[in-house]
Amino acid sequence: MKRIFLALLIPILLITGCAKAPVTGRTQLIMLSPQQEMALGFQAEREIFESEKVTNDPRFVEPVQRVGHRIAKATGLDLDWKFYVIENDKVPNAFCLANGHVFVYTGLFKYIDNDAQLATVMAHEIAHAIAHHVAERISVAQLTGIATAIAAEAIHSSANEYQQLYEAALGIGSQVGVMLPYSRMQESEADHIGLILMAEACYDPREALKFWEKFAKANGGEEPIVYFSTHPATKQRIEQLKRLMPRAMEIYKTCDRSRLTPVKSGEPYAASSTLGERVD
Ligand SMILES: [Zn+2]
Repeated sequence: MKRIFLALLIPILLITGCAKAPVTGRTQLIMLSPQQEMALGFQAEREIFESEKVTNDPRFVEPVQRVGHRIAKATGLDLDWKFYVIENDKVPNAFCLANGHVFVYTGLFKYIDNDAQLATVMAHEIAHAIAHHVAERISVAQLTGIATAIAAEAIHSSANEYQQLYEAALGIGSQVGVMLPYSRMQESEADHIGLILMAEACYDPREALKFWEKFAKANGGEEPIVYFSTHPATKQRIEQLKRLMPRAMEIYKTCDRSRLTPVKSGEPYAASSTLGERVD
């Protein structure tokens, strides 16, 4: 029975296990199929629409759409990109599901001065999605489960049990949706990919440094964003961004400026500024 179990398992690992993260090229172990990953995204989305209030307020929706579409284009991925704003001033947060649907809370705007800073957060969240970080987390959880199952093989094990484990792992994934905490490694990677994406989308990458420094200061060094709670300490994050800045600036200097659109007056930025949108 054990041999049958392993014979089933190993090809699954070989076929679906090998992936590479965009930009960083890091090798990843991902055992979910793209279809399963998408299904998780849609399930999480249904739960979000049930529990959160989506607003059509153009003061928030317009910048989120404007910035989002440019970041999405920079990914080069043909997903069904959608950008929503959730009305909740208490939550300074944003996230992106595997299906390319991005949600930004109105509470984030308190910390944002311009499009480039909004791009900092949105590109970071989109980076988590295009690097399949949720699927990677679930895969690790599954592997842990499988390891346990193999250890327990002396008692009973079968392909059927593996199936149940698999379903259980998927269940965990869908219940917590995007709330599954990312590892620090994934956070650093999202910072890295996000910085390159924002530069390719023609947003000044130096605004990422300003945003994170200001955000940390405003919160006494604490980062209140739930999804950001396992983010690297601000000092390490800033150091990494500075290391990557020369490359990001190279990209920014030659980025495609043809689709830049001006910021409208009355948008809810903390300071009035058009940084990141200037064509000159
Ligand atoms: Zn993150």
